[in-house]
Amino acid sequence: MIDFQALAKKYGTPLYIYDLDHMTRQFEKLKEAFRGRKSLLAYAVKANSNLSVISHFAKLGSGADCVSIGEVRRALLAGIPKYKILFSGVGKRDDEIKEAIESDILYINVESEAELGRVEMIAKEMSKEARISIRVNPNVDPKTHPYISTGLHENKFGVDMDTAKRMYITAKNSSNLDPVGIHFHIGSQLTELEPIKEASEIVADMVRSLAAIDIDLKFFDVGGGLGVRYNDETTIEPYDYAQAILGTLKGLDLTIVCEPGRFLTANAGYFLTKVLYEKVNGEKRFVVVDGAMNDLIRPSLYNAFHKVEVVGKKEENKTPADIVGPVCESGDFLAKEYPLPPLEHGDLLVLHSAGAYGFGMGSNYNTRGRSAEVVIENGKDRLVRKRENFEDLIALEKEFLEA
Ligand SMILES: *Cc1c(COP(=O)(O)O)cnc(C)c1O
Repeated sequence: MIDFQALAKKYGTPLYIYDLDHMTRQFEKLKEAFRGRKSLLAYAVKANSNLSVISHFAKLGSGADCVSIGEVRRALLAGIPKYKILFSGVGKRDDEIKEAIESDILYINVESEAELGRVEMIAKEMSKEARISIRVNPNVDPKTHPYISTGLHENKFGVDMDTAKRMYITAKNSSNLDPVGIHFHIGSQLTELEPIKEASEIVADMVRSLAAIDIDLKFFDVGGGLGVRYNDETTIEPYDYAQAILGTLKGLDLTIVCEPGRFLTANAGYFLTKVLYEKVNGEKRFVVVDGAMNDLIRPSLYNAFHKVEVVGKKEENKTPADIVGPVCESGDFLAKEYPLPPLEHGDLLVLHSAGAYGFGMGSNYNTRGRSAEVVIENGKDRLVRKRENFEDLIALEKEFLEA
């Protein structure tokens, strides 16, 4: 049991809290599911990029899936070995490509023909051979929220199968490109197995057709996307997930690369916020809290649901209320029509499942400093990021202020 009251007192609110032991259990579960096969779990750093969180995964033997050179630098700084780092993303700048090649990471996930051309050109200038993998778009409906669907042609990610094949041939014939892998990632918060299986089947067939023309890949990168329970969703068991994928790889000797983000961190995280006041507009009840959309944007952005727990209060006489923050936007809410007991100034609310796409999506909108971040390990809490103060927020502007 986490003593939220004590944490609020010690670190203030709003506050992010991450249970590292939960992350360990999730990691081990997934690793176990792929046991007996060569596999690399590459934690998707964007889900929660706090250095101490990445370092925790480094100690568990995890790799890192990065979507910017900043994330690659974070991963290296946190102790992830370079040979376990992947660089994905639909738009990479030249300087990012250059640094990725220089850093000698495992491979770059290439997402377009034009990008392949840039990588080749940059590698050539450096007299290097860049290890690449191509992100294919198998055109499979992942049956998730449209904002987190990525595996349909209508989404901006990856290339269609015919284009991919052409790109592999180009790469094979280039002395500056070394095609080592194939990658797909059809979406996030996946709760159905069938689309994953279907996509894996299509991509495995591609691997076979490439082998037939002497292009032998080593890495079969299945992306991330494994869903978690926010409310009452049924989720996929890691074992079934692994079996579904492995079942499509018959006769292929490949290292499975998996890029879980949410699965590892979402339910390890809590967002703790304090009630400022209640107010009623006509019939509508609002609970105004000190946390806001700049801290946790998922409800505003995806209409995401986070379970809310009232700390130290009997959950009686509940009526529906919107939990809203101080930010000047009607979209600034953390929950809608949520049944809550009467609340007063100083009461604490905990939003569950806030460990993925929480802090990292935060901003300084309304000149609000970002929350502090705390981890709990073996029952002990420790600060892993300071609360931002006003000086932090103006640091990059102050010198330009004219007298
Ligand atoms: C976002 C992302 C992931 C992680 O997704 P989750 O749903 O958090 O597991 C993995 N791979 C790529 C390429 C991504 O963009």
